[in-house]
Amino acid sequence: MNILDIQGLTKKFGDFVAVDNMSLTIREGEIFGFLGANGAGKSTTINMVSSLLRPTSGVIRILDKDITKQSRFAKLNLGIVPQDLAIYEDMTAMENVSFFAGLYGLRGAELKERANEALEFVGLSDRAKNFPKNFSGGMKRRLNIACAIAHKPKLIIMDEPTVGIDPQSRNYILTSVRKLNEAGCTIIYTSHYMEEVEEICSRVAIVDHGKIIAEGTKEQLKATITDVKDLRIEMKTAAGKEGEQLKSIPGVRAVQQDENVIRIQSDVAVDNLNRILKKLMDDGKEIRAIEEQEPNLETVFLTLTGRNLRD
Ligand code: ADP
Ligand code: MG
Repeated sequence: MNILDIQGLTKKFGDFVAVDNMSLTIREGEIFGFLGANGAGKSTTINMVSSLLRPTSGVIRILDKDITKQSRFAKLNLGIVPQDLAIYEDMTAMENVSFFAGLYGLRGAELKERANEALEFVGLSDRAKNFPKNFSGGMKRRLNIACAIAHKPKLIIMDEPTVGIDPQSRNYILTSVRKLNEAGCTIIYTSHYMEEVEEICSRVAIVDHGKIIAEGTKEQLKATITDVKDLRIEMKTAAGKEGEQLKSIPGVRAVQQDENVIRIQSDVAVDNLNRILKKLMDDGKEIRAIEEQEPNLETVFLTLTGRNLRD
């Protein structure tokens, strides 16, 4: 069964179309990656799925039920980890989780047990009585997750859960996602970090300007870009303006530069390596290494949009 079915979803803010006629189905049991640059429309989509925002048009179904018609059913089956932390600084960790679990109808001994389980799950049991104002960014993120999972929803949507946190908390969260999935939860994992999506997701949708521009398994997505080669050129010194200028060479689709490394996505069919190298050498660059890289989700994004995910 589809756990989430989005059909023709659109959200306009005035004249601006943030989500543009989007359709997407998520099957039970997946870890689904929702990948896109900042401003792509990911959070707007999620806010509509969680009924925080009203769609301009379109239908959203959770387990085959229209969320506007069966809002309680939708709420009980859904756990949302919002991009902006939704925790109360003046309540203890335990009180926070209990509060959210209570909103989902849990009471008494069951509420206490589930709240304890959720805190344990995110590794905050020993901080249950502490106030989040003294927590690190990563601990707050983990508490945010505990608040969303105590009621044991079938579908959990995490909106950029690892932005701005330390690597240890990040790994903890990625491991939690896998464990939740193994325990039977379907996860939608929203991120602009393609490494994370590549690491944990079984299927991916790439969203750009409110539209899904590619969807499939990682392997399927990478297989769509057989007509593009991904070159990595390492120089002795940092690149200057030549990075931009390389874009005018025939066949070059996208260029990114990071210090002394330039990455170029270029048409396989166009022989332009000589021109690329000549341009760099004419600018006095000493080339240390050239390699052709395996495509990754970043390459897919670049090839489709001509832009870098983090621009
Ligand atoms: P993402 O989560 O992918 O970074 P968002 O869904 O937050 O993107 O935003 C998509 C676009 O919609 C952005 O251009 C953003 O500025 C715009 N947007 C989001 N919320 C509002 C709002 N309440 N009013 C006007 N524009 C908005
Ligand atoms: Mg967002």
